[in-house]
Amino acid sequence: RDENNSIQHLFIAVNDVTKVAVYEQKLIESSWRDALTGVYNRKFFEEKIKEEFDRHKRYSRPLSLIIFDLDFFKRVNDTYGHQCGDLVLKIVSSKISASIRTTDFITRYGGEEFCCILPETPLEPTVILAERLRKLIEEVQIPYNGMELHVTVSIGVSSLVPAIKSREQLFKKADEALYRAKESGRNRVVAMETKH
Ligand code: GH3
Ligand code: MG
Ligand code: MG
Repeated sequence: RDENNSIQHLFIAVNDVTKVAVYEQKLIESSWRDALTGVYNRKFFEEKIKEEFDRHKRYSRPLSLIIFDLDFFKRVNDTYGHQCGDLVLKIVSSKISASIRTTDFITRYGGEEFCCILPETPLEPTVILAERLRKLIEEVQIPYNGMELHVTVSIGVSSLVPAIKSREQLFKKADEALYRAKESGRNRVVAMETKH
């Protein structure tokens, strides 16, 4: 300011925060991702299912879940080692990831369990997709130490119907179907029972 207190000069500092912003975005993104497989993690699943369930329930729109559990996965670890098991998880999840729509979400729900959230998808097409994914995984060749390994998955499917009142119920239906898939021989898709 001059002697009359009028502003004569301004000092402007410009900082390029692109790098910080990009880094922050990466951190946020990585907090939603599973470190081993790169697919969404359990935390993301809990957030997303809440959001999608509330929205689809409110507007009576279709919403489905697919739960995958690798068959006899402990055997893979016990026979070929944990590293091999990790490789299997990476390959299987990337195959699923590449085969679903960009509007669907694949999450690693637990150790060798994956759960897909399929907005705007009713039960019947979800079962068809699940069957396609089951077959795809069955046919995947996993190269390990000069060998070619194969794995299978058991799958449970559930869909939002009027009788389902909470996201927990929706999940439970898919989990019960998965249990039946395991019990009835594995490497198969079982859909939740719907009352007619
Ligand atoms: P089922 O057909 O009944 O599902 O049998 P399973 O052997 O797949 O099931 P079980 O629950 O007995 O074993 C799951 C195994 O998954 C045990 C655990 O060590 C393994 N596992 C979980 N997370 C990881 C992981 O991040 N890496 C590896 N390599 N193994 C994992
Ligand atoms: Mg399991
Ligand atoms: Mg298993």
